[in-house]
Formats: sequence, C-alpha cells, structure tokens
Amino acid sequence: MRRTQLRIALLALPVVLVGGVLMAPAGAEPATPASTHDAGPSNADNPELVRIQLTGADMLDEVVAAGFDIEHGLKRVPNGIEGEAVVTAEQVAELEAMGVEILGDDESFAWSDEADGGIEALGAQAAQSFSHEQTVRIARADWFTTKGQGFLYVEARTTSGQQTNPIVTMQLENDLGAGTSFGSTRTMSRFVDSGQYMFHRNLFKLDTRPNQIRVTSSTGGVATGFVSNWLEDAAPPLTANPAYKWDFVDGYKHPQQLYSRAEEIARQYPGIAQIVYLPYETNGYQRKAQATIGGTGQAAVVVSSAAWGHEGGNDITVEFVNRPGADLPLAVEVNGTAVRVLLAKNASGALASTAAQVAAALKTQSGGLIDRAHPYRTNAGTGVVQASAPVALTDFLDQKRVGAPDGEVPRGPATIPVLRIGKHRDGRNPGVLIQAQDHAREWVPATTTLETAERLVHNYKSDKETKKIVDNTDIFLVLSNNPDGANYSFYNFASQRRNLTNHCADDNADPARRNSWGVDLNRNYRVGSGHDGYSGGSTSCISDTFQGPEKLSEPESKNIVWLVEKYRNIKFMMSVHSNGGQLFWQPGAYIANGRITTPRPPLRDELFYWQSAARILSQVKAHRETVVTPENVGGSSDVLYSSAGNVREDMYHTYGIYAFGWEVGGSIYNPATGNWQGGSFQPAWVGNPELVSGHAETMEYANGIMEMFRIAAEWGKDNKKPTSQLVPGGGKYSGPVDVRFESSEPATIYYTTDGSRPTFDSPRYAATEFREPGQVFHVTETTTFHWFSVDTAGNIEQNYDPSKNDTRNNYRKATITIAK
Ligand SMILES: [Zn+2]
Repeated sequence: MRRTQLRIALLALPVVLVGGVLMAPAGAEPATPASTHDAGPSNADNPELVRIQLTGADMLDEVVAAGFDIEHGLKRVPNGIEGEAVVTAEQVAELEAMGVEILGDDESFAWSDEADGGIEALGAQAAQSFSHEQTVRIARADWFTTKGQGFLYVEARTTSGQQTNPIVTMQLENDLGAGTSFGSTRTMSRFVDSGQYMFHRNLFKLDTRPNQIRVTSSTGGVATGFVSNWLEDAAPPLTANPAYKWDFVDGYKHPQQLYSRAEEIARQYPGIAQIVYLPYETNGYQRKAQATIGGTGQAAVVVSSAAWGHEGGNDITVEFVNRPGADLPLAVEVNGTAVRVLLAKNASGALASTAAQVAAALKTQSGGLIDRAHPYRTNAGTGVVQASAPVALTDFLDQKRVGAPDGEVPRGPATIPVLRIGKHRDGRNPGVLIQAQDHAREWVPATTTLETAERLVHNYKSDKETKKIVDNTDIFLVLSNNPDGANYSFYNFASQRRNLTNHCADDNADPARRNSWGVDLNRNYRVGSGHDGYSGGSTSCISDTFQGPEKLSEPESKNIVWLVEKYRNIKFMMSVHSNGGQLFWQPGAYIANGRITTPRPPLRDELFYWQSAARILSQVKAHRETVVTPENVGGSSDVLYSSAGNVREDMYHTYGIYAFGWEVGGSIYNPATGNWQGGSFQPAWVGNPELVSGHAETMEYANGIMEMFRIAAEWGKDNKKPTSQLVPGGGKYSGPVDVRFESSEPATIYYTTDGSRPTFDSPRYAATEFREPGQVFHVTETTTFHWFSVDTAGNIEQNYDPSKNDTRNNYRKATITIAK
C-alpha cells in the first residue's frame, strides 16, 4: 500500500534568475541568469536554492523566526509543508539542526496516480446507510481537466479524525461514469495542522470522469457522493471578442515605470480615469551611510551617518588615527566631511581606545555627522580598536546588482498613485481594490494589474463587456504598494520581500544586515495580528515576516486603510502576490495553541467566495488551461499557513470587504513530464509560454481580475431577492427526518424553531464544518421552521422586513410533522 510517490519535480529555478530581462526589448531573454546575491551582504556567499520539507506550521514559524527566507512557493503536503530556501551551506546545516529535511531533486511530494489495487473491501460498508450521524462526510469531489489530463480531487472527513491510537484511515473509490461500479481503491492522506485534524484528501489523475465516489473509514463509516466539475471550460468573454485588445505589457516594470504609466493613462482617458495620491509617503528608497571599522569582534565599531546617504552621508569618511607618542587621550577631529578619530594611547605608547569608547566619542564629537555608532552586534565593545585609513561611508544603494536596469533610481520617500478607473467615480458603484506587490520581489502581480488597467481603458469604447465593467464599477489599482522594496529588488537585491525601513536596534543595525531589514507589509495589519498572539508574523526585525514594531507602523499599510475609509464604496479587494497558484480568503490566521482561527466567514460569504473563485479561476484557465486546484483555494490558513496581520483579515473583518489574496504563477501541469511544476518570483518574461513565463502569467491572471470586476458590477446591480427552501419540505413523515436549507444564491438564512418570527438576531444557518455545505437538522418531533434569507447584496427574501414588526409576517414557514 503506497500513500505517496516520490518523483522528479523539475522545479523552475528560482527566485534568483533573470536580472537582464528587465530592460530588454519585449520578447528578449536574459543571456545569462544573473545571481541576485552579488550585491548582498558579506554573509551571503554562494547561496543556493534548496527544496525543504517542514513538519508543519510550528516548524515554519520557528524557521522563519530564525531569519530564513522561505515565504511563498510553499505548498501543503500530507506530512507537512514543502518550500524553497535560498541558503548557504552553513545555513543548510542550521536548517537540518532545526529538524528541517532537505529534499533531493526527485523527492518533492506528488500525489500518487496509482490506485492501491488489490485492497480487500472493508466488511462494514454494506451495513452503513445515510444518517445524520454518519461518521464519514464528503466535503468535495471535484473533477477537472488540464492540458488533456483529467484529475479528481477529494476531501472527506471522519468524525474520528483527531483520534491517533489507532489513526483512522480512509479509503476512496470511484466509479467510471453513471451506472458503473466502484473500484480503484486509494488510501487518502490525513491532513493535520497545528495539532488539529483537518480532513483526508487525495488528488490524482484519471482518464474518465467518474459520476460518484465512495469513501470508507477504517472504523466502518461510509459516504457516497456525486462528483462536481471544478471550473468551467468557457471561452473568456472578453478575449472571445475578436476586436478585443489585450497583451499590452511587454516586460517587467519597476515602480517608476508603473507609476508614470498610471499617470499617463489618467491624462489620456480623463473621462474614465484619474489618479488618487495616497497621503502617506513611503519611508523611501534611502539608507544611512555606514561602515564597520577598527577591527573585528569586540574591536569593531559600526558607524552610521546622521544624514541619508544621498543627502551627504555618502560623502563622509571616518579614519582611526594612530598618533606618535604615549599617554594620549581619545579625541575626534572634524574637517568638512572628514572625521578623524585620534585613538588614545597608554603610558607605554600602545593603542588604548576600546570600541565602546570610540563609538561614544563619535556620537557626541563628530559635529553631527555621525549619530549612530556602536559595537558590533551584541558585543560590549571591549576590544582595543586598530588604526584605519579613511573609510568612505556608503548607503550601498549605488551598488547595482548584475543585470539591473539602467538609470537612476529616485532616492527618498515616494508617493504612491492609485489609478482609479470608472465612468462614475462618485461612490454610486461598488469599488474594487486591486493591490499588487506588497512584497517587493513579486514582479508578476504588478504587470498583471497594469495589464488589466490597459485592457479597461483601451476597450472601453469598443467592447460592450468592458463598457459594462467601467460603467458599473469604481476600480482602484495600486500597481505597486512597496516601491522602495521593489526598487531594491530591481536594482540591488532581487530577493527583497519587505519594505526598506530599518527598525533594528544596534545589535542588528550593522551594514552586513542590510538585506534583512524591513517590515513585511502583509503582516502589519490589525486583525489576527502577531501582536495579539496570532501565528505567522515575526517579532524579529531581521525576519522575512517581520510584523513591524506595532500594527500599522508602516506608511504603506496606513495608506490602504486610508483608502478604504475614504472610499467606503470599496466592497471587493484582491491582494495580488506570487507565486504558488493559490486563491485565498478568510480565515488567514490562527493562534497556534488550539488552532484558533480568526472568525470564519458565515456560510453565505463562504459560498460567495467559492462561487466567485470558480468564476475568476475559470477565466484564468481559459487562457492556457492553467488550473488552480481546489486544494489551493479557500481560507488561507486552512490551505496554506497562518499569516498573522495580513491585509485580507483587516479588510473583511473591519470593513466587510470581500477580500481575496492571490498567489499568481506556479503550480501548472506539465504534460511532458506528467508533473505539476512550481513557479518563481521573477520567471523569465517569455520563458516557456506553456509553463513558467512572466508574460503568460500576466495575461492569464489579468483575465481573472477582469472577471472579478464583472462579479463586482453584477453585485452592484443585484436587486433580485433570494429564495430558499427546506429540503425535504414541510409535510407528514412517519419517523425522524434529516432536513437542511437550500438557497437560490449565496445567502444567510435566519431561522427559528420556537414559533417566533425570525429576526437578524435569530440563529443563522451554518456549515456542518469548514469547507462543507450547510448543516443537517435531525428532526425527531413535529417542528415548525420560520425563516428568511438575505443575499450578499442585502436583498431579503419576499421583501420581509425583520427589523420592524412587519404585520404581514411574510417570512417563510414549514412544519415537519412527525407521526408518533
Ligand atoms: Zn507575497
């Protein structure tokens, strides 16, 4: 019996490729992949990309807290989480010491395509029949095809899933169409996260679409269920119009290019576009000029300029002078921008100033040129400082990485423009916020967002579907929400994730740490925050998930809150990231102990999210058959990991905005190898157009964003009242009966069973469990249900008014009469 199959992964080379493509003409490829680490700090000697496996979210937290850069490209596998890390040999040893498994090229997890075969049927299954007390429930059974291959994805739960002695196993069988028998037994994988049983699941290739599946647990529970289609095989309504214009973006764009094009669009299309400038300037593409001088270890002095590098800091030199003579005091001379530290000497003429003493003298006697000087890292600075020729301080920002674009990067704070597109920008239409590139190294989200802007303005006059979008929505596009970090990623250090703000105390403020500073903007928000004990944000200023010194400490996150508070019509949001091939919503964070998530969206919103996700992802698929699989869709902490303080939790829970998160790129089926292939942060722009390609990802995910606009436009026009029913309906039953509610569209159903009129305070019909449909009521005695439903746009069934004493009492009613 085999559960998993190890196979060749053929993962795309990383993260670190691609510098030279940036300014190359459209379609050009980089001649040679450039390392991004050439301008990195001194401790980044020869880092390499390795595949790693972690036992779970706890280990992920530990590894990230230790400063490892392993965010994104992460994937849940049955026994934990797989990911990528760019690490040196020394760091590999450190990871292994923490219990991380380093995977060989052929060791990535892949779901088995082969049935277990030969497994004996479990004796209990024939005896089971449908019951509300069933111990096995099927949550999903999804069929999809991609690139000529069929797949079946199944999630099922056993009520004994948490039991560990013995662990309850689950077997899955499928038929091969209506009227065929069950066969091809497979063992499902048990998914446990942060100590909690989640569900069992399987994804496997299948050449024929099954009609039904059957799941059997080792404790004798059985469930059967029908197979649904995951995603539509529809032509994209927009690109299906032969006159439709698309494919505008011709390569990766740095923030200056993105912003100037946004401003140009607003000038060219003033009837439907404008710029909204965000009020909080970023902290800037700028750093203090620094050097570590005087020796190593206890003798080293870390010096930082008072002025930013480009505002004079880079002009400062610091010299440690050994004067002739004996019994000389420590002194500092300043001549223009030249700082000379005259080191003390003892009675026998030897140098006698310690690093701590020199640092103290520099801070107070450098004429204001130096305002931060301290011993190295955690040292007390007890070592005697050695003489040094003049050292020029530098902010290191003029050290361009190989393959970086030409041209000067503007230093200093940036103002972020929001490109607002819509015929009526007065609040009457639902707003949709697309926020790209919170994470600097994620270049495809920015080009995807720019492509959607170009499609909207170029097709407005000629394409009626586009006109419907522009006339009926109010779109806010943040093409890059992290310009300082993005510039650092383009020009200095391609793997930069965070912004450029250095919040570190002296122990981590030396220039060798400069690629480890910054705040993870998608950990800096207020709901489910690491500051409140949620998992997945780090308190370490050098961690790649550093959550910031406090909630909303960063201008970039303050801006997003400002925007949704100023434009209260914003009802939809997509935070666009790369890479991984995932579509997320809430919950996205939990407290690890007990796995306590942020509140789960009620059934109505969960259903609306799923319905919207299927539409959005069907449009992605329409471009080149990329399928984001259902195992990668849902609450992000359910399908990936807890990310404390992410923007989606704040937007949804504080403002009621439907807030998606997207990991574009990656996880694409490669029929040539028969495997799913991962992506990268900066894939070659053209690359392999069928697999990993920045251009292809931009085009397909722009399709998806256009569908999100259509969803918002329809939502804004929705005045159709929902309908709902009890299934089976009211009537006489000879014994106990299981009933549930169904509604015509995602809706919240408020109900009573005590004869009272239902109100907004009445119980809400809920899901059986997360990722499952609505609950089943086991009715054993005569019961009358009163209820009404409310859709996502607020329409109420039959125009009932639950807030007033509506004498019509036109809520829904049904009585289940049970004969005694
Ligand atoms: Zn990201």
